[in-house]
Amino acid sequence: MSGGLTRRSLLGAAALAGCTPREAPPAPAVWVGASHERGHLLREGAALPAPAVQRRASVLVLGAGIAGLAAARAFGRQGVDDVHLLELEDQPGGNSRGHAIAGMACPLGAHYLPVPGGAAREVAEWLHEIGLLKTHLGRTVPDERHLCHSPQERIFVDGAWAEGLLPPVDPGSAAARQMRSFAQAVARVSKPGAFELPAHRSRWSAELAALDTVSFARWLDAQGFDAPELRWYLDYCCRDDYGAAADTVSAWAGLHYFASRHGFHAPGEGEAEREGLFTWPEGNAWLTKRLIEPMGERLHTGRVALRVTEQRQGVEVLAWDVAGQRVEAWQAQTVVLALPLFVAARIVQDPPEALRQAVAALAWAPWLVANLQLDAPPLDRPGAPPSWDNVIYGSTGLGYVDAMHQSLSAVRSATVLTAYRALPQAERPALLAGSADAWTQQVLDDLARAHPDLPRRVRRAELMRWGHAMAIPRPGLQRHPALAALRAARGRIRFAHADLAGCSVFEESFTAGCEVAQPA
Ligand SMILES: Cc1cc2nc3c(=O)[nH]c(=O)nc-3n(C[C@H](O)[C@H](O)[C@H](O)COP(=O)(O)OP(=O)(O)OC[C@H]3O[C@@H](n4cnc5c(N)ncnc54)[C@H](O)[C@@H]3O)c2cc1C
Repeated sequence: MSGGLTRRSLLGAAALAGCTPREAPPAPAVWVGASHERGHLLREGAALPAPAVQRRASVLVLGAGIAGLAAARAFGRQGVDDVHLLELEDQPGGNSRGHAIAGMACPLGAHYLPVPGGAAREVAEWLHEIGLLKTHLGRTVPDERHLCHSPQERIFVDGAWAEGLLPPVDPGSAAARQMRSFAQAVARVSKPGAFELPAHRSRWSAELAALDTVSFARWLDAQGFDAPELRWYLDYCCRDDYGAAADTVSAWAGLHYFASRHGFHAPGEGEAEREGLFTWPEGNAWLTKRLIEPMGERLHTGRVALRVTEQRQGVEVLAWDVAGQRVEAWQAQTVVLALPLFVAARIVQDPPEALRQAVAALAWAPWLVANLQLDAPPLDRPGAPPSWDNVIYGSTGLGYVDAMHQSLSAVRSATVLTAYRALPQAERPALLAGSADAWTQQVLDDLARAHPDLPRRVRRAELMRWGHAMAIPRPGLQRHPALAALRAARGRIRFAHADLAGCSVFEESFTAGCEVAQPA
């Protein structure tokens, strides 16, 4: 890890770059967003004081991420009017929470939702309800005001920016040929219904099962796809969507990324169709807000679910009320665990065998999200103009999105850049122990390759570290019997979380939340 981003080093950079001494000094970098000490309450063996409060609910949902909020909504639509939600953090939304620096909204985690495909019918129905999708002359059309504005993406290669995220290659090169064959390979496996999102609605086949037995990297090797530009891009896509590299995710997952959405377009093979996607300065917190609003006082934040016990008449949940510093005892007919499965396994007493097996099969990727408040946009290099998503070729980071990209102002001014990094699991201890300054420095070292003046533009750096951000779709997870059993559980204790899909995207979480309210 490189040296810390100290106030002195930033001021030094500013002085070298000729800033006036009147400029306010940059603030030290800080961690935001996660209350790790609350998570520590979950450690086994902690003695609990006697409950100070008794509460009742027909349905109690634990975890107010997208899955939990969707579950609460789904039960409500079935006429259950006392659905309550307990959320560990003070702010609901889980990985889809937002943040703000100096009044400028920015994401803490998830930041976009593609226009949903046909299998994500509950997502589409809800988007109609909140006005993001409309029916016009019999066709479904997205509300363009919320679609990502153009230009959407660019990549920094050899000192210049190029449009799109695929590294530019000579049309006659081996890399270009391999890109064309990879496009054909994606088209070959993209049979109708084969790669749906949510994935469990895909039509499973021997071919898909085989793809789920090997890593994407091994599959690419076997097919002869070895061009560095193609391999870097595919690896980037895996890290960006799944939090892990191509040698870790399954070939099924690597292909699903393209086949379930927009396909793969080789350069020169017709105009690459831009994926229609919704995004907002605060990322998917815009969506989260629409799910939270109807919950009113039935959403209880700052409540750490500590113990879930099935009893003869229902389920008892003991939760720690952080503000009240006391234990609450809840009695519910049905409890939905809408939290990561490794947390569920810790708090459910006598956990079902499927829960143990699912946790043993899953691995979670750590992520770092760095929000950098700039006093002015960074100087640009030649080539494609500033875009929503800006990626550096060869980087281990995932680039940055610009919070002001959706602004309609013609003049670029102060902004917040949100830089993303999916880290190898081995780096989790360093992420959790490291200083915010040191991690900011790593992010700046990376981005300064494209924007050398960036370090002196930064006024504040606010970082979110996700220790177990998302389940990695490793080989063997699709159709894993333990995950399928948890998804199907319709007793008093039920499960709804992206983990059930073995990967983490909005469509999976929302659908899991809707399905958990359905009868078996
Ligand atoms: C950095 C990052 C970027 C992402 N970007 C995108 C994106 O752009 N688009 C996209 O579709 N997806 C993205 N994702 C995936 C994202 O995880 C999903 O879209 C979705 O938000 C997951 O929701 P969930 O409800 O399944 O899980 P979570 O978000 O994990 O929700 C679980 C909730 O349970 C709470 N909880 C945990 N333990 C307890 C307890 N003991 N008691 C009470 N509550 C508890 C947590 O605080 C949390 O609020 C991203 C994820 C990350 C980490």
